[in-house]
Amino acid sequence: MVSISTNTPTSELQAIDAAHHMHPFTTAQDLAVKGARVITRAEGCWLTDSDGNRILDAMAGLWCVNIGYGRRELAEVAARQIQDLPFYNTFFQTTHVPVIALAAKLAELAPGDLNTVFFANSGSEANDTNIRAVRTYWAAKGQPDRNVIISRWNAYHGSCVGSGSLGGMTGMHAQGGMPIPDIHHIGQPHWYNEGGDLSPEDFGLARARELETAILEIGPDRVAAFIAEPIQGAGGVIVPPASYWPEIQRITKQYGILLIADEVITGFGRTGNWFGSETLGITPDIMTIAKGLSSGYQPIGASILSDEVAATLAQVEFNHGYTYSGHPVACAVALENIRILEEEDIITRVREDTGPYLKKRFESLTDHPLVGEASIVGMMGSLALTPDKATRAPFEAEAGTVGYICRERCFANNLIMRHVYDRMIISPPLTISKKEIDILIERARKSLDECYAHLQANDMLKPGTRP
Ligand SMILES: *Cc1c(COP(=O)(O)O)cnc(C)c1O
Repeated sequence: MVSISTNTPTSELQAIDAAHHMHPFTTAQDLAVKGARVITRAEGCWLTDSDGNRILDAMAGLWCVNIGYGRRELAEVAARQIQDLPFYNTFFQTTHVPVIALAAKLAELAPGDLNTVFFANSGSEANDTNIRAVRTYWAAKGQPDRNVIISRWNAYHGSCVGSGSLGGMTGMHAQGGMPIPDIHHIGQPHWYNEGGDLSPEDFGLARARELETAILEIGPDRVAAFIAEPIQGAGGVIVPPASYWPEIQRITKQYGILLIADEVITGFGRTGNWFGSETLGITPDIMTIAKGLSSGYQPIGASILSDEVAATLAQVEFNHGYTYSGHPVACAVALENIRILEEEDIITRVREDTGPYLKKRFESLTDHPLVGEASIVGMMGSLALTPDKATRAPFEAEAGTVGYICRERCFANNLIMRHVYDRMIISPPLTISKKEIDILIERARKSLDECYAHLQANDMLKPGTRP
């Protein structure tokens, strides 16, 4: 066995990684040829790789490092908790102080009457909990046939069999027998790609009314719940038209179906409020949280239930749970993360200061010949790349080809910006400074310029047609 450390040469690390580590959402044989980038350290918004490059992380890891990297307080809390009580379960009529404290804190922070927390280790697991919770809820109310959950195409709700079924990623459905039965998908409120000649407002209404059509087709007494991200994240940071959510609310209320807001990305300050539901005026019955809950320092997720849902479920034994539900170390770290968000008033700064600044700078990129639209709320944004701004046309090349080229230019310029098909997306740490925002925009523009030059040189600026 070779000894492996941060001093091991990059090429050796990459070879061992390729030999023994299978990466998520990756074609292994392609990555093996290229070699994975090895990240060794991080501080604030900056990553360091094994070659010593300093990279601005405009994705906060994977939408999660809301308070930034390198916060010693979280390390100290974790070390103390590991010494005091590294693990105990919450199954058999036992509990512990960190899980009590975090549940109470979340009940205080969550809007409305969302006051009861069921813990998981990730967003995927929490959404699997939600599937079983809403079906068990309706069974407890004497309506066991109310088990259909409506979701949206191009939604992302996680990667377990249940949560992956809720999600609307066709590439995921194609592998391994998803979706599970009684999950139904409707269209997404993605005006730029799918709105055609409708105004954004009319399109938002039309897409919301697909929910009503689906409920009537399936039968109102068969629909248990509707699940959606307030703003789609992994689908490409798609901000719905203003008409969308009020109409969704009207419909869920009229037919008495539960509304699940998947706040895994939009929670914990990302949109300038504690939860995206507050920013978008949504009143959910259940909220899914993860990622920013611990700023990614520990794996933890949860479902927060309304008083009515919790009281109904309280009547039955809910045969569900994870060994690490409410893990004491993860709970302690999440609490410390929340304490820092509050004490340093980070969310107010996003809402009133750095958020508006980022919005202004990000929207300035729309003068670039490739950028058809800049959408941004708080600290999550996207750029639509197009060869023809007037018609919002896609490129002739397969969707994602140009986005990938642009992403590679960002990588080369030491900026982490992701692409979803031909949308470039950002979700930086909430602690990003104005100076760092300037660097982000400067590097993004340089990368767009280089991408544009590449497209010109290779005759790739021709518009195609939407599938
Ligand atoms: C990331 C994500 C999930 C899944 O969370 P994991 O912790 O990766 O399991 C669920 N919903 C949304 C909206 C997400 O962005």
